[in-house]
Amino acid sequence: MARIIAIANQKGGVGKTTTAVNLAAALARTPVRVLLVDLDPQGNATMGSGIDKRELATSVTDVLLGEAAPDAAIVRCEDGYDLLPGNIDLTAAEIRLLDAREREGHLKRALQQVRDGYDFILIDCPPSLSVLTLNALTAADSVLVPMQCEYYALEGLSALLDTIEGLKGRFNPALEIEGVLRTMFDVRNNLANAVSAELTRHFGDLVFRTIIPRNVRLAEAPSHGQSIIGYDKASRGSVAYLGLAGEVLRRQRERMQAQGGTAA
Ligand code: ADP
Ligand code: MG
Repeated sequence: MARIIAIANQKGGVGKTTTAVNLAAALARTPVRVLLVDLDPQGNATMGSGIDKRELATSVTDVLLGEAAPDAAIVRCEDGYDLLPGNIDLTAAEIRLLDAREREGHLKRALQQVRDGYDFILIDCPPSLSVLTLNALTAADSVLVPMQCEYYALEGLSALLDTIEGLKGRFNPALEIEGVLRTMFDVRNNLANAVSAELTRHFGDLVFRTIIPRNVRLAEAPSHGQSIIGYDKASRGSVAYLGLAGEVLRRQRERMQAQGGTAA
């Protein structure tokens, strides 16, 4: 049964979508089966996966509203993972969900139908704590938080982790923190290095060892509808996301061994 990881941070532009697409592609290079869910009305993960968001006959919106089964909307991407695509229609779903019963549980119920067919389900969240993000955090086993090592980053991170703790109690008591990921990192930036050191001091093992460097190839890949691994496998960005996938797989293996199961 798939481990469901929500990629969330209420701040925009921190690397959520870049991480969702490239982690999906990196995991898909191994024998694990991966589904990426685009839950952001901007549809960037959909476009970045090479699927035109303006031409979706069926999307995650229909699935959320219970008007289509996930299988009817899921498409296969060139990078070797499956995608449950999304687009601007999600804003309509958001409004309708606000009036729905148990409005936070719709994605969880839908993903239960396909969960057995995957090892990992990654959810790319919008940059807000909207009802869409709430659906992701209710469906997920864990949250992966991408962040930039800037001046206010630690404050923002503490606030986000507090919010997640608060939501947990109400909607998903078993929700874990998968890890905090340093993105767009520039080793020549003294402040970034200081914030990074402070981050590991405060949050210890919660911080992924892998650091995603600022790398222009990562910014270019989406306009070609490709992951960084498809676009430029030798780039520093590609190497970093393959490393992150290795770390996620290792943690999963350790968890499964601790539970007495077998590794994926
Ligand atoms: P979010 O989904 O959190 O809003 P994105 O993943 O869309 O953030 O990233 C914001 C912008 O920064 C995008 O234009 C993306 O291509 C670029 N970007 C993300 N990560 C990197 C990186 N490591 N190096 C260079 N550019 C990056
Ligand atoms: Mg995004």
